[in-house]
Amino acid sequence: MMNRLKLLAILVAILSFVSLGAALLWMDSLFEEPEATFVSSIAGEVGAKSVLAIFAHPDDEQLITGLLIRAKEQDAAITRMITATKGEAGTPLPKISRTAELGIIRHAELLKNGYALGVKEQIVWDYADGGVANADFDTYVGDLVDKMLIWKPDLIVTFWPNSGFSDHSDHKTAGKAATAAVTRMKIDHPAMAPKAIAYILAPRLMMDKFGGAVGKRVVANQPTPTHAMPGEGWAKIRGWDIHASQSQYVSKAYGFPPWFIHRLYDKEHYYLQFID
Ligand SMILES: [Zn+2]
Repeated sequence: MMNRLKLLAILVAILSFVSLGAALLWMDSLFEEPEATFVSSIAGEVGAKSVLAIFAHPDDEQLITGLLIRAKEQDAAITRMITATKGEAGTPLPKISRTAELGIIRHAELLKNGYALGVKEQIVWDYADGGVANADFDTYVGDLVDKMLIWKPDLIVTFWPNSGFSDHSDHKTAGKAATAAVTRMKIDHPAMAPKAIAYILAPRLMMDKFGGAVGKRVVANQPTPTHAMPGEGWAKIRGWDIHASQSQYVSKAYGFPPWFIHRLYDKEHYYLQFID
């Protein structure tokens, strides 16, 4: 009798172990884009020595930690970032400050994370969080062009204008403005124009299965990624600690903490467009 019980317990343990392993493999596959060409660095692929990330909110840079770190460490590129808003309209997760001061706190979190990622210079503008699409587009593009003339980036990193990773209108406007600024550089200052734009894309299988209506819209409006690279998940895990006012965001969005998710979601996927 005892032996049978023992055997049963061992069988149950083995079965649980196998199904847990299968579940992990399945979850991991949702964050993969097997068709994309795997490279060790997008900046290296472009031969970029100056990278400029153009985003909308504090913590958007969490999507491109791998690109930024490897550009600096592997390719000796200088990295810079322009963020349009201070994230004052975000949801604090958890609430760690007075609501009226959320923008100040998130601005500081963004500067801290940028520093931790080795970003040389960061600018955070005063566009209204949630209202970038309503701002004067030409001014936004013109200001981006002015910075490109000073910094001469050869690689721009931004959101895909039609999907913005999460369909957020601020993200889409940032991607649209960054793209328009590169077009203007190419026409007005061809010798100083960036060589390429890397658009950060969302993992399609995960978005399609668990992203609800928004996820399906993102997938429908995204191109197929051309490249994948290591995401430096450890830096994303660290980044969610630095972004203390958003530190529970991943748990809320995925149902699992960052240390778990960023072991599965370990690559970044890009649509890399060369400017001819
Ligand atoms: Zn954002």
